[in-house]
Amino acid sequence: SSTSSSSVASPGKGVENVVIIGSGPAGYTAAIYAARANLKPVVFEGYQMGGVPGGQLMTTTEVENFPGFPDGITGPDLMDRMRRQAERWGAELHHEDVEAIDVNSSPFTIQSSERKVKSHTVIFATGATAKRLRLPREDEFWSRGISACAICDGASPLFKGQILAVVGGGDTATEEALYLTKYARHVHLLVRRDQLRASKAMQDRVYDNPNVTVHFNTEAVDIVSNTKGQMSGILVRKLDTGEESVLEAKGLFYGIGHSPNTQLLKGQVELDQSGYLLVKEGTAKTSVEGLFAAGDVQDHEWRQAVTAAGSGCIAALSVERYLVSSG
Ligand code: FAD
Repeated sequence: SSTSSSSVASPGKGVENVVIIGSGPAGYTAAIYAARANLKPVVFEGYQMGGVPGGQLMTTTEVENFPGFPDGITGPDLMDRMRRQAERWGAELHHEDVEAIDVNSSPFTIQSSERKVKSHTVIFATGATAKRLRLPREDEFWSRGISACAICDGASPLFKGQILAVVGGGDTATEEALYLTKYARHVHLLVRRDQLRASKAMQDRVYDNPNVTVHFNTEAVDIVSNTKGQMSGILVRKLDTGEESVLEAKGLFYGIGHSPNTQLLKGQVELDQSGYLLVKEGTAKTSVEGLFAAGDVQDHEWRQAVTAAGSGCIAALSVERYLVSSG
């Protein structure tokens, strides 16, 4: 799918207008907008998610909250549609990882596994990866009992009316636990420490909710299944006594945080304490002129496909404006 671009719309010879890094909803939406603006975007789709382009949604089944699909759509189908839409408008897609990037030079240089590209602007949309516990049977039950997103999966028939568990003791985990009480029969919150790290307000809401039981000093050890191979419980260990037992549960939600994929930019641009790209509020602008950010890589709060797509649109329109104003 790679065509050479001697850049019809490029101001400088051999220099691209915009390179987009990432093939999630943010990257493809940015590609659609940039391509329609005749900027001839060059997209590095990446290999991160098990060798396929499309980002995090490639790891899920039904997406029920992306507007325009009243009957739901599978994650891979949704991402394939976005990809084809970007391609149809002329985005140049390379199924390659970016291995190095220099945003302190002008133009920027981007080195992938196959090529080196110079570009006036870059949209960084490399997403974030949900931290996993790496339980022995995790792969077997991923999306079939284990989830990293309560908002995405809480209302699924798999979990509705069931006993569920959430791991983690911070704001994410407590929020997930409270959210799940809307659908679940009961929610267990498994906390490794002897206290919650979440804000006082969230702690109060958890303790006040009769449908949440907090288990301190407790870690998940593995998934337990029934004779049909379905998840039926969680093997848990008490860290203070070492005692192990099986907690009945049909689902386990990870609320232990995300790692933004910003390793390539370390030392070149402002990141927050957790490594997320810092943008000027309400914009896609980073601390480096010409470098824009979109999607989960700059958003530790909402982390939805539609918000990622929205920020991809903002980033592409910002690039268009920037190129006009910088001549
Ligand atoms: P991502 O989707 O994370 O994509 C990042 C892309 O960057 C990937 O393609 C990756 O390969 C690429 N990349 C990373 N590093 C490099 C590199 N060095 N070079 C080139 N490419 C690189 N949201 C919803 O709204 N509804 C749902 O139902 C829903 N379900 C979900 C289910 C699961 C299991 C998960 C994990 C998430 C779910 N989400 C859902 C959240 C949603 O997937 C994310 O908010 C969204 O995908 C973020 O989009 P993004 O474009 O920022 O990044």
